[in-house]
Amino acid sequence: MKKKIAILGSTGSIGRTSLKIFQKNLRQFNICVLSANLNYNLINTQIKKYKPKYFIITNKEVYNKIKIKFKKNKVKILNDFSDLPKSKKKFDITVSAIVGIAGLKPTLKFIKISKKVLLANKETAICGSHIIKKICKKNNSKIIPIDSEHFSINQLTNNCKDNEIKKIYITASGGPFLRKKIKFFKNIKAVEAIKHPKWSMGKKISIDSSNLMNKVLEVIEAIRLFPFRSDKYEIIIHPQSLVHAIVSFKNGQTKFLYHETDMSIPISNAIYENKVDIETLSKFKNNFTNSFDALRFEKVDKKRFPIVTFLTKNIHMNSGAIILNASNEVLVDSFIKNKIGFNDIYSYLRRVFRDRDFKKYAVKKNPDIKEIYKIDNWARKKTFEIIEGKK
Ligand code: NDP
Ligand code: MG
Repeated sequence: MKKKIAILGSTGSIGRTSLKIFQKNLRQFNICVLSANLNYNLINTQIKKYKPKYFIITNKEVYNKIKIKFKKNKVKILNDFSDLPKSKKKFDITVSAIVGIAGLKPTLKFIKISKKVLLANKETAICGSHIIKKICKKNNSKIIPIDSEHFSINQLTNNCKDNEIKKIYITASGGPFLRKKIKFFKNIKAVEAIKHPKWSMGKKISIDSSNLMNKVLEVIEAIRLFPFRSDKYEIIIHPQSLVHAIVSFKNGQTKFLYHETDMSIPISNAIYENKVDIETLSKFKNNFTNSFDALRFEKVDKKRFPIVTFLTKNIHMNSGAIILNASNEVLVDSFIKNKIGFNDIYSYLRRVFRDRDFKKYAVKKNPDIKEIYKIDNWARKKTFEIIEGKK
């Protein structure tokens, strides 16, 4: 029997890479559900090419257009994840690759109805990992993180206890501005920030990578997903992006995981549980000797990347991370639309964190889904007020 597949965010960078991998083996995989938001042209192409049973399109206008266009087609076009009919058979693999908090509800829904969820959507892990864990336990589902750093930590620490581990380093390429003079940061435009030197990714994560917010979010994601103490994590600059995580054990060993900067490696290893010949799926040749002189590591310069100072206890333990995530989503979007400058992302975040109501929302431990949205909404509203100069 073919494996039943769903890809949430199929038109995005991770979604497209995942589709390419599944497409190489359609005798084994049945692409049953795809989902997207705005990308009309690519939704069209994916319906024709992959013939999914359901295509969920969140944006109402695009949904209406596609629904009319494919009214004679077998594919069922839905506007909401809740419209998906119940099925007795679980999905074998779901890839969670929507960007931002928009991925939270769909991911939680699919964890209930999937055997295995490949989790790329870090914002979901950051805001709702406690709910994810409960749902996984109740429904006997498995989460495999595919963000390359988390995929590596998972591989390196499999079955380890906290007391065996001394330190976990999450690597950062340093993005396009690693060597740029700080005095020029204020003039950085979104087009420059989106151009990542090593990875090809969606806009939001590329901008998050340019100021190291992506690493801040990744450390929080790791703390939420793995059972290791928060003070064991450190961000370290590794411009070549070939080593994704390094774990120092108390027994004197240090292990790292090395792979080319191609997301098809963690994704396909998660799909095939490490039993895959990557060269049949990806254009990269697995040739370690090409990078004999490339493995360099540096400490993070906090003057250049002040955003890393947001990694405090408040963020690690409680709902401060939901606020950080929501405010950052608003600020990145405003930066892309040229409404604020590059340095404003950091300074406006600080203002949100210094607001007199911040603590009230940030101290909440393990909020339920309603409370998550309440905290998220407060942070968005506050950030908009700051951007518009009302605060
Ligand atoms: P993209 O921006 O390339 O794709 C985002 C996907 O989400 C698209 O399919 C988009 O649809 C869909 N989407 C956007 N907004 C909504 C919404 N409101 N409702 C429903 N669907 C929506 O992002 P990436 O693929 O780069 O990243 C996806 C996630 O994976 C992020 O959380 C990111 O942090 C994480 N990640 C990404 C990596 C990468 O290499 N790209 C690496 C590690 C983690 P449409 O295109 O139709 O608008
Ligand atoms: Mg990553």
